[in-house]
Amino acid sequence: MTTHEDDARTTGTDRAGATLVDVEDLAFAYGDVSVFEDVSIEIRANAVTALIGPNGTGKTTLLRTLAGLAEPTAGAVRYHGPDVPREIGYLPQQPAFRPGFSAAETLAFYGSLVGESRAEVSARLERVGLADAADRNVEALSGGMTRLLGIAQAAIGDPPVVVLDEPASGLDPGMSAHIYEIARELADADTAVVVTSHDMGLVERTADVIALLDAGGVAVTGSPNALLDRFDVDSLHAVYEAAVSGDLTRVSVRGESA
Ligand code: ADP
Repeated sequence: MTTHEDDARTTGTDRAGATLVDVEDLAFAYGDVSVFEDVSIEIRANAVTALIGPNGTGKTTLLRTLAGLAEPTAGAVRYHGPDVPREIGYLPQQPAFRPGFSAAETLAFYGSLVGESRAEVSARLERVGLADAADRNVEALSGGMTRLLGIAQAAIGDPPVVVLDEPASGLDPGMSAHIYEIARELADADTAVVVTSHDMGLVERTADVIALLDAGGVAVTGSPNALLDRFDVDSLHAVYEAAVSGDLTRVSVRGESA
């Protein structure tokens, strides 16, 4: 297993390793039904922060509040990054694009909103591995390719924070690994990347910080290594099992990057 906190490096921005978003005492409820309470996490540049936890614990809701798409019931999401036109890019769980346009045309449209040239947009398609599918209509893209286009779209304008909701769900292992490599590359270029996932292997390999949600809020946070050490287990899957079976007390594990 690898963690990446030592990889943090300056790549032309002055925000390497900085906290770009802090989430403080966040709560969300649908009417009287609480989804989570007292969620506090720091989202840092150069890090992949993974939200994990059973279905229905509020991962998507938390990402939507981060992206400014849902209003929390209480608490705050504070952005501390640079003053840029696009602060946060977001990949929804099921990205959908307007039919009848090619991948390149679709991305060029989003690029035009933030002043990116066709050449820059082509480079983005290349970076996610979609260069060969540039002229294919979006409705003819596979599920994996649609996600890749969604990630390219989320990264348009180089927002300091990129939020990816289950970017690899339903994809084959090769495509899933490819998507997490892209997430890693974004983080290495000073982006704060936040993902949700049920793939414990990929999360353990890729994430620098993990926040595990259970019914009620964040049950445990820390780097993969810190979590494994703290709970004396040999896999993130075992940490997850312990949390889901209720064996964990709420705790923040202060690891190298937590
Ligand atoms: P996760 O991403 O962890 O699966 P979600 O954020 O999608 O969790 O959902 C959290 C909880 O909020 C779930 O119990 C879900 O049923 C509930 N929920 C989601 N959307 C709505 C809605 N529009 N109205 C009421 N409850 C909702």
